[in-house]
Amino acid sequence: MIRRYGLEPGDYRRLYEAQGRCCAICRRATGKSRRLPVDHDHKTLLVRGLLCGPCNDMLGHARDDPQFFIRAITYLVNPPARAVLRPTVVTPVLAAVDTPDLGSAAILTGGD
Ligand SMILES: [Zn+2]
Repeated sequence: MIRRYGLEPGDYRRLYEAQGRCCAICRRATGKSRRLPVDHDHKTLLVRGLLCGPCNDMLGHARDDPQFFIRAITYLVNPPARAVLRPTVVTPVLAAVDTPDLGSAAILTGGD
């Protein structure tokens, strides 16, 4: 693992410390129970940093396109429904579901 992506001995630890001992994006995953994966640029193969699995997957989903995240920020700050719909609150709905392990259980689902 140390030599993968050209990391020298100690590089992982230095990067980990520089990132504040957590995932560079969500800052929630600490890598204490499982090391944070080394993220790299798929075009240049250069190491970018340490990310948790979900954040790494998110970059994959975004295809490393910064515009993806600008659109996401715009969406969160100014949701399109705000301009189109009257204020609508999604009411949680209590639904009964059967689960193989737990039998019947009640879960909250978003209403439509
Ligand atoms: Zn993360």
